[in-house]
Amino acid sequence: MQTISVKCKLQVPVELRQEIDRTLRGFADACNQIYEVATAENCWNTTKLHHLVYKAVRASTGLKANHVCQAIRRVIGNVKAVKQVHKFRPTSINLDIRTFQYIEELQTVGITLMCGRVKFKLSIGNYQLALLKGQNPTAATLNKTKQGDYYINICVYLPTEPTGRTPKVIGVDLGRRDIATTSTGKAWNGKQIQNVRDRYSKVRANIQRKRTRSARRLTRRLSGRESRFQKWLNHNISKQLVREAKQFNAALAFEDLTNIRESLNQKPRSKTERRRTNNWAFYQLRMFTQYKANIAGVPIVFVPPAYTSQTCSRCYHFHPVKGKSYRNGKIFKCGHCGFEHDADINAANVIAALGASVISPESPGMTCQLESQLSLFPTSQICG
Ligand SMILES: [Zn+2]
Repeated sequence: MQTISVKCKLQVPVELRQEIDRTLRGFADACNQIYEVATAENCWNTTKLHHLVYKAVRASTGLKANHVCQAIRRVIGNVKAVKQVHKFRPTSINLDIRTFQYIEELQTVGITLMCGRVKFKLSIGNYQLALLKGQNPTAATLNKTKQGDYYINICVYLPTEPTGRTPKVIGVDLGRRDIATTSTGKAWNGKQIQNVRDRYSKVRANIQRKRTRSARRLTRRLSGRESRFQKWLNHNISKQLVREAKQFNAALAFEDLTNIRESLNQKPRSKTERRRTNNWAFYQLRMFTQYKANIAGVPIVFVPPAYTSQTCSRCYHFHPVKGKSYRNGKIFKCGHCGFEHDADINAANVIAALGASVISPESPGMTCQLESQLSLFPTSQICG
């Protein structure tokens, strides 16, 4: 099962806005109180914390019983996730089976506020309808945006297909010139996207020079539009990646980019280039691909990123001289076997080969993940 959250806009009559806001304030207030007690007592166990705070918090906030239970969970969850917790603000509340209900026939949700159970109509499109069809969700989060709109994120479980064992692997290289290139030769050209990003970035720089309030507001709006664009794009690419893998009954292999910032930033880079690598776009693309692959039953493997772009995908050699590479911009030309290929596709091929060695350790010459790395890389130092 894969959990995803479906974001739905709520239709809120004017007179009910203050009721929601009051509950949101109560919830934030409860969280802040609970956090204070938990810190003072150094208690981070849900049950123990419940005994410590429940009665006092209910009495002082007027929240319903399950609101307080969820506030305790929110506090503990937040502390585990971010370590340093700032003040809780009245912008969202967690709902559970006792405080939330989705009624499919009517396209409404029932939400328990401080004043009691209230029904709200959803304004949603076919995308949300399809995801919610036949679901009986038991958890949701109610959010208020800066613009004053109300949304509910409904948690649904989607069945996943069993991931079969497959010897085939499609390697995916995430680059700067192209956003993504696969070992099957598909590429998503980053040029148009980069133009959009550069344009936003230029506009932002101009605005930031003027340090007025309205300028700051404009910056926020711009970055929102930019990130929505990126999100749309990443959904698109990840969908196509998973579809292709499914079609070929293959696994997807990515580089493990956990520490990519450090390694990429060792070399001096221009400001523009640094901005391109230090964004969360790649992270988001992998995350989207991961959950879509999970639903479709496509296995995903992560391989170590060292040398993938400099290694020949035919003979697995890389340049013997430190700091030199067979890669020259868009072209890869192996000095050992003479193999010449598009540099990004070559890298994707190497990633696919590494992925295959992880997935099927019994493939010849590669017995485990570690050994596969050893057998792939140091050869050029011996033979080269
Ligand atoms: Zn070669």
